[in-house]
Amino acid sequence: MESKRLKLINARCCICDANDAAPIGFGCDYEYRTSSDTFRAVQCHACSLVYLNPRPDVSEFETIYPPNYHAFDFSEKDFGVVYRVRSRLEAKRLLSFCADLPADARILDVGCGDGFHLKLLTQYGEKGWTLEGVDLDERAVRMAERANLKVHLGSIEDLHLPEDSFDLAFMIQTVEHLEKPVEILSAVKNILKRGGRLVIVTDNTDAFDFKIFKKKYWGGYHFPRHWNLFNRKSFGRLAEKVGFETIEIKTIVSPVNWVYSIHNWLVDRNAPRFLINQFTLKSTVSLSAFTSLDIVLQKFGRGALLRAILQKP
Ligand SMILES: [Zn+2]
Repeated sequence: MESKRLKLINARCCICDANDAAPIGFGCDYEYRTSSDTFRAVQCHACSLVYLNPRPDVSEFETIYPPNYHAFDFSEKDFGVVYRVRSRLEAKRLLSFCADLPADARILDVGCGDGFHLKLLTQYGEKGWTLEGVDLDERAVRMAERANLKVHLGSIEDLHLPEDSFDLAFMIQTVEHLEKPVEILSAVKNILKRGGRLVIVTDNTDAFDFKIFKKKYWGGYHFPRHWNLFNRKSFGRLAEKVGFETIEIKTIVSPVNWVYSIHNWLVDRNAPRFLINQFTLKSTVSLSAFTSLDIVLQKFGRGALLRAILQKP
């Protein structure tokens, strides 16, 4: 695995449809070591979007999302207390967007992975809601189906879901993985009812962790799996380009990019495994410590994640 080189292709800014950008960071796949390539992140001069250029060809999906990829197996068995704390927190966050929904609301999770959020909505939401997911990865869809969730395999552009039919859609840590964010958001807009909302959560390139680690180790690069990374400005432009009304774009708390930035820094120094293991999604001490730090930063509008609420006019 280590020696494999990926097929890479040139990218452009998906918002400006141009390639007027400066390199800002270089790094490797520190988490999964799926290839020996060094990757380059660039920032668009016009809109400040950060994007991977060049990036893997879509034919490399199976390689860059290996079977042990965490989105496919975030389970209570493997993650224990982290799973339980995150579940409670996420359930509360998700339900806060559902307060005004009708009893028979239809909700879609785009990029649902193994169905973590759909399971929470099933468990804590109204029984009359119809919950569906979409994911490109067959392994993820099979896992979701095993949990009795209704999940469509494929890209939302190609699935021909009925137009004007959903009350609410979520894209939680999905947009940064996409090849074509504009096209996918447009497809989501099509299936939403008028006045329907799309809630997006993604990494924030105005966050303090980005400022510190952007040259190489920033966890949010997730090299080579995050292709488009936003701040308030670029995200606002994306929403405008697609024709959504922006209800709110704010930052929220997350320890994950802090923990992974330090993880990546340690991996690159060949630090001992026991030390590296203190900085993963299973390490409660570092997750708690950086949650506390990010709570403070979030109060200054510099939380590690962006959360946007968009509405179909
Ligand atoms: Zn741009």
